[in-house]
Amino acid sequence: METKQIANKEVTFHHYNTVIVGSGAAGMNCAVHLSEFMQRKGIAHPQDRIVVITAGLGLGASRMSGSDKQTYYKMGTSPDVADSAEEFAKSLTAAGCCHGDTALVEAIGSLREFYHLVQVGVAFPTDTSGTFIGYKTDHDPYERATSAGPKTSKFMSESLQKQLERYGVRTIDNQEAAHLLTTGSGGDKRIAGVVTIDKKNFAINVYLGENIVLAAGGPGELYKTTVYPKGQLGIHGLAFKAGLIGVNLTESQFGLASIKFRWNVSGTYMQALPRIFSTDADGKDEKEFLTDFFPTMSKMATNIFLKGYQWPFDPQKIENLQSSLIDVLVFNETQKGRRVYMDFLHNPVGSESMDEFNIDDLEPEAKGYLQKAGALQKTPIERLAYMNTPAIEIYTENGIDLYSEPLEIAVCAQHNNGGFAVDKWWQSNIPHTFIIGEMAGTHGVKRPGGSALNAGQTGGLRATEYIVNAYGCELPDYSSKKSDIEKQLSGFIDRLDSCKSTSGLAAEEVLEEVRNRMTASGGHIRELNDAQKALGQAVELYKNIRQKGFNAKDDSALITAIQAEHLALTSVAYLKAVVELLKQGSGSRGSHLILAKDGIGIHPDVIDKATDKPLKFKPENPSLRNSILQVQYDESSPDLFRCETIPLRPAPKERKAFEPAWKDYREGKIYSS
Ligand SMILES: Cc1cc2nc3c(=O)[nH]c(=O)nc-3n(C[C@H](O)[C@H](O)[C@H](O)COP(=O)(O)OP(=O)(O)OC[C@H]3O[C@@H](n4cnc5c(N)ncnc54)[C@H](O)[C@@H]3O)c2cc1C
Repeated sequence: METKQIANKEVTFHHYNTVIVGSGAAGMNCAVHLSEFMQRKGIAHPQDRIVVITAGLGLGASRMSGSDKQTYYKMGTSPDVADSAEEFAKSLTAAGCCHGDTALVEAIGSLREFYHLVQVGVAFPTDTSGTFIGYKTDHDPYERATSAGPKTSKFMSESLQKQLERYGVRTIDNQEAAHLLTTGSGGDKRIAGVVTIDKKNFAINVYLGENIVLAAGGPGELYKTTVYPKGQLGIHGLAFKAGLIGVNLTESQFGLASIKFRWNVSGTYMQALPRIFSTDADGKDEKEFLTDFFPTMSKMATNIFLKGYQWPFDPQKIENLQSSLIDVLVFNETQKGRRVYMDFLHNPVGSESMDEFNIDDLEPEAKGYLQKAGALQKTPIERLAYMNTPAIEIYTENGIDLYSEPLEIAVCAQHNNGGFAVDKWWQSNIPHTFIIGEMAGTHGVKRPGGSALNAGQTGGLRATEYIVNAYGCELPDYSSKKSDIEKQLSGFIDRLDSCKSTSGLAAEEVLEEVRNRMTASGGHIRELNDAQKALGQAVELYKNIRQKGFNAKDDSALITAIQAEHLALTSVAYLKAVVELLKQGSGSRGSHLILAKDGIGIHPDVIDKATDKPLKFKPENPSLRNSILQVQYDESSPDLFRCETIPLRPAPKERKAFEPAWKDYREGKIYSS
């Protein structure tokens, strides 16, 4: 550690072999593996070579998000149904835009990482024979899904943190990553380090690393209506600025979530069959708004049930009265300025022409499930309590009593399937920089529920293997790049000063503008002209920020200003991808709907707010499944980003005999092919 005066500020430099940004389930797991792999390599004190820096140990989706039983999707562990990595990979790539090589690696690494979590102490349930019990998510025959309860990802990151503490690896808390230092250009380009601002004393730290692992999660607060935890902004803007390539940015997922306390209402919350109703803005004028759209109580209640595991919002499950019609109707209602609630004290209520709710009248899939689960009690709250008490407790812990009050919900941004480009070792387009967890864009258009957590673990394992075995465990030497690094730091410090200009923009207002625009034009309902207009406005806002700076009054407001700047750039990247894909003729896919005048209507009363006419959507264009849209920052481009469409990488088919494969392994050739 050394301290230097740069510009008018004191800057402290730290040197590590690997600097990990983010302490969620992905970052913590990578740090644990790095420590283990370095020990195995004979490194005496791995803890001196690895560091985790984080804006908040208790922040991020892993620590703060979940659902009724947060799912971990792994290869099947059923004693009587055989699963294979190829079958697993097929499930990941099924809806397109997903590289075959990373999907196969996620499949192969799945059980290894699952058992690693078991070993560090995550309480995944077993039966009396020790079988890790699984369940089906939407017709998966292998019962690959499992769960440690509503807070699976919290338990994962906490257990991994304890293991890390046992290894003596330091996690430096309250470090807001504010800039990525780069050196070199072309193939020699590196991200040499991470500049942070300490959120407590506003000191500037520079963490230089031979390797950098970015694990800062999704840009959840890019949207106004979001279930991501408060403060989860990610560092996408910094990463774009450093030259990292974004992929599949159009493929964000949206779903129903409670908004007073941000939590997904998937699974048993819906399978308990609550009444869903709306009110006016003041909570008056209750209405059973679903009844206008479903012909019978049986159909309506069955779809509420199916919504539980047909997650998230899926435009291919709207037509012919399927479960995503419920998301559309909830959104339609909120667009009218009304509020929507789930009421666990009452069964669904029908219209005059409908029969009364009766579990016996449900369609076979729903009825069979509830019978098997023994959940035939009279009211939704009793059924929920019987099936999943922790799902009620999580609300109690957060000040909401499902026994006495309805739960307000909305269609919220809930996950980023896209992210940054990685190869099969989770290395980015910049050598020595790895991207894992939700920041990595390894998912395609759709992904099985729970596969995000699996991908985060396997990605960290792969990055570790490559770092330790291909790049080594030495500390970095940037002495020849000193003047370059110091020049960038002084530019960064000048920029901080410009964030305190009286004529600058208000950071909170910028954040509000970005979020409103993203929810309105880059959310789950999109249209080309509107998206183009939004992109133009987003570019203008970013250029304005660069020109005028911010009017931060003090150092703590400075952090909000930095976040606003990089979130504004992130929104440009996302909207650029939305526009480009629409220009390529894309239709509704994944978790978003594309509006088109000549498209498929839903119902005369489901209105497109922009035109006041019935909403019509365009079906998927399946020819786009075989490519991935990449987006890269380019200051000279009119929209600040340029796009490229690349073909999918296939899964490797070669299976070598043991001896030659062993030789490749011994000689380290596996890292070069
Ligand atoms: C409501 C909800 C339910 C979900 N349910 C499931 C599920 O059932 N199954 C599943 O597989 N996935 C689920 N997911 C997704 C999954 O939880 C996340 O993708 C995953 O936890 C992300 O882990 P991560 O380690 O990549 O990032 P996170 O856990 O988000 O961690 C990000 C880390 O980066 C740090 N950080 C952020 N910005 C900065 C910065 N500027 N400087 C320094 N540090 C920073 C944060 O403090 C945090 O430590 C769900 C997500 C949500 C929101």
